Amino acid sequence: MLVIMKNNATEEQVQSVISHVEGLGYRGIPIPGALRTAVCIVGNQGFIEDSQLLSLEGVKETLRVTKPYKLVSRETHPQPTVITLGEVTIGGKEPVIMAGPCAVENEEQCLTIARIVKQYGAKIFRGGAYKPRTSPYSFQGLGEEGLKILAKVRHNTGLLIVTEATDQENINLVEEYADIIQIGARNMQNYALLKRAGHTSKPILLKRGFAATIEELLMSAEYIMSEGNSRVILCERGIRTFTDNTRNTLDISAIPSIKEVSHLPVMVDPSHAAGRREYVIPLSKGAIAVGADGLIVEVHHDPPRSVSDGRQSIYPDQFATLMREIQRLTVLN
Ligand code: PEP
Ligand code: MN
Repeated sequence: MLVIMKNNATEEQVQSVISHVEGLGYRGIPIPGALRTAVCIVGNQGFIEDSQLLSLEGVKETLRVTKPYKLVSRETHPQPTVITLGEVTIGGKEPVIMAGPCAVENEEQCLTIARIVKQYGAKIFRGGAYKPRTSPYSFQGLGEEGLKILAKVRHNTGLLIVTEATDQENINLVEEYADIIQIGARNMQNYALLKRAGHTSKPILLKRGFAATIEELLMSAEYIMSEGNSRVILCERGIRTFTDNTRNTLDISAIPSIKEVSHLPVMVDPSHAAGRREYVIPLSKGAIAVGADGLIVEVHHDPPRSVSDGRQSIYPDQFATLMREIQRLTVLN
């Protein structure tokens, strides 16, 4: 349930609604709006009798939230969420491009790729220092050494850094080095990690699980938001279907579907969806055309020598083409 406060409600009146809600055994989370504040009640299993709430000073009305997710829902927050990080705005008018290698391999590799992607207009550098690999024998990432390389990339190029935390331990270090913390598809339902992500001040890029419904993705985002971190960016990265011509199937309809019910920004990862670099540009164009707020793309200066996901990493000249094509679509939009 949402308790909508009057336009002129005071801070004390909002606090007394929260105390009342806590007295009922639930939590009240204030959501400041342009005109008025709302208090979102979470933790209730079903119906809440609202007559006492309606009689509190400063309360305008109550609204029932019909979805199982509340803080993530557009019912609670009708305006799209815009996340600002320095000069970069995610969820605004311009699509934001995050680009870089699958994994941090060494300093020279990262700086080379970072300079290329920056030159063509990427704002955020991606690269995994902790890699969640299907095989325990595959390269697992450089760990903290990789994070230090990413910090150097930021220092030398001014690009922001997005990198993945794979467990509750390494999120502590990732939080120190990253500008945006990624939670990968394999961890979308790692609830302990999601709760921990709710306690950082850094934005979270939450990727959809291979076999997760949109509602499950939104419930995972709700875990993060309900712990206090409202800066969540969702990412469609392809789901598993019967077709095997691509690594995963990009669920292009997820973008308008999520936007219909949630205010959170939605990014698309065409690389892990396609698994093949030939499809990265067309899928990227499709994603932007249907309203994605940006892309996270794997780029490598020497894909055949990449330690992971070389087959889906695009070459620098393809990245230049991608950026030009995206620019054209943005002008059309
Ligand atoms: C990644 O972005 O490096 C990654 C492992 O992606 P996903 O979690 O979507 O598989
Ligand atoms: Mn990858």
